[in-house]
Amino acid sequence: MREKLTPYLSKLSHKSGISKQYSHNIKEKNFGHFNDPLMEDAHEMVKGLVHKYKNRALIKVSYLCAAHCRFCTRIRQIGNPKGTLQKVDIENIVCYLKEHPEIEDVILSGGDPFLTPKITESLLKNINKIDSVKVIRIGTRLPLQSPESFERNSIGQLLDTINRISIEKPFYILLHVEHPDELTSEAITSLKLIKQKTATILLSQTVFLKGINIDFDTLYSLFTKLYFSGITPYYIYHCDSVNGLEQFVGNIEEEKEIMRRLRDTLSGIAYPTFVADLENEYGKYPFDLEIIKTTANSVIKNTNIFVLDK
Ligand code: SF4
Repeated sequence: MREKLTPYLSKLSHKSGISKQYSHNIKEKNFGHFNDPLMEDAHEMVKGLVHKYKNRALIKVSYLCAAHCRFCTRIRQIGNPKGTLQKVDIENIVCYLKEHPEIEDVILSGGDPFLTPKITESLLKNINKIDSVKVIRIGTRLPLQSPESFERNSIGQLLDTINRISIEKPFYILLHVEHPDELTSEAITSLKLIKQKTATILLSQTVFLKGINIDFDTLYSLFTKLYFSGITPYYIYHCDSVNGLEQFVGNIEEEKEIMRRLRDTLSGIAYPTFVADLENEYGKYPFDLEIIKTTANSVIKNTNIFVLDK
């Protein structure tokens, strides 16, 4: 994956929480892990549509992103123009969804669906006509990589379409964010625009990344900033074992300890679930943090928990 930054990110490259996410590192080597640990390629039923779990489908709108994150799980594909959906691909996806009414929850990802607003808009308009699809989600990093893009007409039109759909059915925007340095005033403004123009629910996803965010203060600041901006922290992942990502994979016990401290200090809504995306078909599983140990000296009564013996 070649190095790619937006002009906006270049201006912010003095901030370590941003530059470390995008700069190519000599340590980026192949250590014999997986290229596709989430087995997406094996479950790609028609071009762009991954059907791995019974009631959910992932749709990769393109492999294009405004900037290339060195920790991307899809490092094998990002930047390849061949991944971009064409009209015929959208028709095939719509056919597959109609033939599989058990798919009720559709997630648009990629690549970044906001980077190709016309294709995403066309796809959404077609999916919205399928009654069996009850929930739509879009994953994005564009508000953090190129917030000024949200002033463009094409994205304005996409937001209008999203608004019409989000009034009818639940529509989630999943912001992929790693560090509080990313939540600049410009980024917050673009996120506020999404909230003003649509009836979507904004959630965040984060990955524990060695050298970037594996410390309590950084994550406390990140989740507090998100919460105060009206974005609910949803998941924090242990970094996937993907070829080329080894430099970012942290120690699980250290990550668990940070999560326990965050549990003690953050508001409940600001506290995300710590999960691993398992290298099989089971999907995301939460870690057992053993926060409460029920021992002979612990009393759990009504909604009050008294841990007498820590
Ligand atoms: S924006 Fe998302 S899909 Fe694109 S390179 Fe970054 S993590 Fe990967």
